[in-house]
Amino acid sequence: MEIGIYPDDRGPTAAGYARNKMKVGVYLHVPFCRRKCAYCDFVSYPAAAADMDGYVRAVKTEIARRGAAAGAPPMAASLYVGGGTPTVLPVEALVEILDAIRRSFHWPPGLEATVEANPETVHRSDLERLRRSGINRISIGMQAAQDALLAVLGRGHRLDDVREAVRLARRAGFESLNLDLISGIPGQTTDDWRRTLEAALVLEPEHIAAYSLEITPGTALYGRVERGEVVPAPEDRVLEMFHATREVLTCAGYEQYEIANFARPGHACRHNLIYWRNEPYLGFGPAAHSCWQGWRWANERDPATYAAHLDAGGLPVAESEKMDLRTEMAETMFLGLRLRRGVERERFRRRFGRDLDTVYGVEIARLQDQGLLEERDGCLRLTERGLPVANVVFEEFL
Ligand code: SF4
Repeated sequence: MEIGIYPDDRGPTAAGYARNKMKVGVYLHVPFCRRKCAYCDFVSYPAAAADMDGYVRAVKTEIARRGAAAGAPPMAASLYVGGGTPTVLPVEALVEILDAIRRSFHWPPGLEATVEANPETVHRSDLERLRRSGINRISIGMQAAQDALLAVLGRGHRLDDVREAVRLARRAGFESLNLDLISGIPGQTTDDWRRTLEAALVLEPEHIAAYSLEITPGTALYGRVERGEVVPAPEDRVLEMFHATREVLTCAGYEQYEIANFARPGHACRHNLIYWRNEPYLGFGPAAHSCWQGWRWANERDPATYAAHLDAGGLPVAESEKMDLRTEMAETMFLGLRLRRGVERERFRRRFGRDLDTVYGVEIARLQDQGLLEERDGCLRLTERGLPVANVVFEEFL
C-alpha cells in the first residue's frame, strides 16, 4: 500500500493542492518529563520509565515516511521542538531526529528553530550542541519568580535555576530566548505577579509568553482544589494580572502581538504565528497534531501504540478529519483574532476567494456595535474592551 501524506490517502482538492505550495511549520513532540507538574494536562510521560530508543526510532520513521509521501521535500517555515521536556532526551538522540527532519524537509538558512527546555534540565554542552545543529531559539519554562508558587505548580525548579538556564543559553549562543510565565496561580497576589514580570525582564528575554493558569480536571492541582486544599485565583484578580502584564511589558518595550504573547521587535514566534494564521503544519511524535492540505489529524498519544503503527508499516494516526471550507474559515477567524493585528481582510479574500463581510457580515456588525471588534489598517481586530473577553467574540464565529 502506498502511504500518502493524507491520513486516508485521498488526493488533494484543487484548493488543497494550492495550499501544498505553502511552506509548512514542523513540530516535534517529545512526550517525556522528569516529573509531572501539578497543573499539567499535556501529553507527557515519566522520562525514567520511557523507551527513549524506541521513541527515537519511531519518530525518525514517521518523519521519513511522511517526507517520502510528500514527493518533493516540503519547505519548512519553522521548526518547534516541544513537549513534554525535549531536553530530557539525550542530546545526540535529539540531533539524530533533527537530521531526519533535514533529510525530509528543506531547512532554509535562518529558519526559526525552537527548543523548549525546563530550567533544571539544561547543560551547557547540550545547549551548544543544539545550537550547532541549527536550533537558534530557546523557550524556557520560568512560570513564577516565587519558589513557593513554583511548589504549588509542582515544578521541579527554583528561580535560581531559571537564572542559570538563561545564562547557559546565552553562553551557548542563543540570541532569541522566550520565558513562559503563568498568572492566576492559587495564592498568587497581583504584586507577586508584577514581581514575576520584573524578574523576567531582568533576564532580558526577547519574548515572553504569559498565560493564565487553567486548572483542568484530572490534574493533581484540580484534586487539591476539589479537596479544598488550595483556592483558585478569583476572576477579578486574574483580570487585574492580565492588565498588569500589558502595562509592565509594553512599558518595557515589548509588543503584545497576541493575547498572551509579547516580543521585542523582530522576535514574534514565527511558528506560533502559523497556528494563529491557521496555516499548514505537520507534527511528529506521539500526540502531535497536523493540519495539512485540507486535513487535520492527531497522532496516537501512547508512545508504544504510536511506535507499533510505524513498526507495522503504517502511520500513527489516531483520528483525522477533512476540513470543510466553513470550518476552515471559522478557525481562521477565531485564531486570527488572537493576534493584535487581527485578521487581514486581503489575506482572507486571497485564501478563500470571498470577502470577510460576505461570510461574517452579521457577526462582525454585531461585535462592532458592542465595541468588541474594530477595523484598522485593513484588519479586523479585538478592541481594548474585546481583549479580556476574547472567548465571547470567538464563539460568534463557531
Ligand atoms: S514540564 Fe510541561 S509538559 Fe512536563 S509535566 Fe510540567 S507542564 Fe507538563
